[in-house]
Amino acid sequence: MRTAIFPGSFNPFTIGHKSIVERGLKIFDRIVIAIGHNGNKPIGDDLVKRIETIRKIFESNYAVEVATYPGLTAEYARSVGACAILRGVRNITDFEYERNLADVNKNILGIDTVFLLSLPQYACISSSMVRELESFGHDVSDLLP
Ligand code: ADP
Repeated sequence: MRTAIFPGSFNPFTIGHKSIVERGLKIFDRIVIAIGHNGNKPIGDDLVKRIETIRKIFESNYAVEVATYPGLTAEYARSVGACAILRGVRNITDFEYERNLADVNKNILGIDTVFLLSLPQYACISSSMVRELESFGHDVSDLLP
């Protein structure tokens, strides 16, 4: 059983994120979608709602789990038996950022990151862009699974 965790904020979970999970399932048997949270604070309603929304998207797929975790992503990955961290890369900016994270996770914490390049049609979709459109009253339902 090969498990990966797919960590992120997923605020909100977009069709770009869903595509990474679906493609990741061709490589891994199980994917844990994992939202980091500050362990010193109680989990807020918005986070609970986010988890429920993502669970609903994958409710018929037993290979996908959704969880939150405090602390280091690499430690959480190890605690669920993951052999890798899954991440998506949309552009060179993502690459630079992800490369640093992946270096730390590999060289200091000992876990590999597997990157999937975004499909071209999803490359310009980000959670922050969705939030911004939404805040101006734009219908974003096409961008959300
Ligand atoms: P973070 O808060 O860790 O940056 P996000 O929730 O923004 O997390 O994204 C989680 C992961 O999904 C990251 O690896 C990010 O690069 C990737 N991702 C975000 N949007 C897309 C997209 N449209 N296509 C492919 N990958 C994406």
